[in-house]
Amino acid sequence: MLVDSHCHLDFPDFADELDAVVDRAKAAGIGTLVTIGTKLSEAEKVIAIAERFPNVWATVGVHPHEAAVEPGEDTARLVELARHPKVVGIGETGLDYYYEHSPKDRQAACFRAHIAAARATGLPLIVHTRDADADTAAILREGLEQGAYTGLLHCFSSSKELAEQAVKLGLYVSFSGILTFKSAEAVREAARAVPEDRLLVETDAPYLAPVPMRGKRNEPAFVAHTAKRLAELRGLSAAALEAATTANFHRLFRKVATA
Ligand SMILES: [Zn+2]
Ligand SMILES: [Zn+2]
Repeated sequence: MLVDSHCHLDFPDFADELDAVVDRAKAAGIGTLVTIGTKLSEAEKVIAIAERFPNVWATVGVHPHEAAVEPGEDTARLVELARHPKVVGIGETGLDYYYEHSPKDRQAACFRAHIAAARATGLPLIVHTRDADADTAAILREGLEQGAYTGLLHCFSSSKELAEQAVKLGLYVSFSGILTFKSAEAVREAARAVPEDRLLVETDAPYLAPVPMRGKRNEPAFVAHTAKRLAELRGLSAAALEAATTANFHRLFRKVATA
């Protein structure tokens, strides 16, 4: 079974048919879903969704878009929320200089606080980065100088160089439906450069539906299209790509296997 390592099941897009969305994912061969937190003020809502479904897990964090208005520097609160048995990661967090909905210094402060929480809990860090390659790499590296943590770059859309740096830092790289977009040759180049034991797939649903669903509301079942494209790119069978990405997921998200 495949894993959708990043979706947003708490978003209003899914409110009326969450059971159907989770069922459709299962029918499409997606065994495990991770619903990702974007606001600390709504962490309980995200965790409640994970409590409802045995194969859905949650993370807690503050998206860089929310860094100006959410208490994203509260490492202690992140650590406390992470004690919940269904919370398996810290994030999403990171830097988004494309939209810059929050000031850069606020984004960086929250990012550092999340790294501290990942270190304290031993849970993987889910990093969102857009148009911020140099600062992202610098903050990740600085965090490692203060002590070990693991994590991933999600919905990868940056340069191949950033993917390679992340791999050197021990991180994983997760690819979304962007990989299937006609214009995304640079993303495919990055996807070819990541070692097989560091690759993950995700939807980032409800956003970024992969081809041939592009333009529709995305949902976890559609991660199969991204996995198929990634397998082609890498010259792997669908089964081999599925086995690799699922094994990688469980190596990184250890709490999923043991909870
Ligand atoms: Zn994101
Ligand atoms: Zn997201």
